[in-house]
Amino acid sequence: MSRFLSSRFYGLKSYVPGEQPRGFDFIKLNTNESPYPPSSGVLAAAGKGELEKLRLYADPECKLLREDMAALLKVRPENVFAGNGSDDVLSFCFMAFCDAKVGVSYSDITYGFYPVYAQLYGLEANVVPLREDFTVCADDFCGAGRTVVIANPNAPTGLCLPVADIEKIARANPGNVVVIDEAYVDFGGDSAVSLTLEYDNLLVVQTFSKSRSLAGARLGFAVGNAELIRDLEAMRYSTNPYNVSRLAQSIGRAAIADQSYYENNIREIVQTRDFTAKEMESMGFDLTNSKANFLFARHPKIAGSELYAGLRERGILVRHFSLPRISDYIRITVGTPEQMHALLKAQKEMVENA
Ligand code: PMP
Repeated sequence: MSRFLSSRFYGLKSYVPGEQPRGFDFIKLNTNESPYPPSSGVLAAAGKGELEKLRLYADPECKLLREDMAALLKVRPENVFAGNGSDDVLSFCFMAFCDAKVGVSYSDITYGFYPVYAQLYGLEANVVPLREDFTVCADDFCGAGRTVVIANPNAPTGLCLPVADIEKIARANPGNVVVIDEAYVDFGGDSAVSLTLEYDNLLVVQTFSKSRSLAGARLGFAVGNAELIRDLEAMRYSTNPYNVSRLAQSIGRAAIADQSYYENNIREIVQTRDFTAKEMESMGFDLTNSKANFLFARHPKIAGSELYAGLRERGILVRHFSLPRISDYIRITVGTPEQMHALLKAQKEMVENA
């Protein structure tokens, strides 16, 4: 910390991203990326013609991209907000809709960026414990009296809240915004997008980083009432109106056009996830019922930190969180069937030696 840092940021605990190894050829199952490349349409859209246009600024309105996304989600373009990955979108949600005195409510085990944004924007956080089995109790978020943020499916547990519970929470907080972070919804969750047409306080956030293989391009969305979207736009135009690059806009549109390619990938990933989960169960692992593109698992004989280290020694990178309640667990991104076979082999070795 320099002596110039504003005192309001003293003690800020910034987000710690998963490791992005350079050089060493790991089987990388630590940051929930897709194991499959972007579609052929995306590769073509990122060609020379588009690169040459990079001397120009991007369309700050992201007009064509928002129109395409709106058509896909069966809403209107004025219901869609685009950002530089969903982290950017979530940051704007915290910035726009959380009052410092009133604050924000989220679960004790959830996406690690929520506490960071709460601290960054000086918000009081009401941290709601998940039940013993890591499920969200919807009643705990009813009448919250503050902004509610829920990841659904949750991370890193992969557990889903039925859309009826999201509706209950939206209805029970008419004076506050309810943000549903659907980063992993395409892998088996229930989306609340259609509810945004009915509830003017509901915002659904999605990303192209996972199911659409574009983590490196940075493209995320929020869907909600047009007035909420205008508020988010006000934040964006007050920080960085060009946050969604020309390239991200054009390849984002190409990805939307290649929907069936991504649906196929999703089917593959779900099959691989369910197969891997079964195999791990037969080795004695205890897993949550993940509906995301990752598994969340512990083994009664091996500590989470040891699982992480043992797999790393065997060239497989997964994620371990040294946090209360979940330090026994590791989070494993679902890769290709070949990658998961390598994972299972390494795990078998470790379990047999435990
Ligand atoms: N929400 C959740 C629950 C996540 O796990 C992630 C990925 N780290 C994000 C949002 C952000 O993803 P991105 O910024 O790549 O869209």
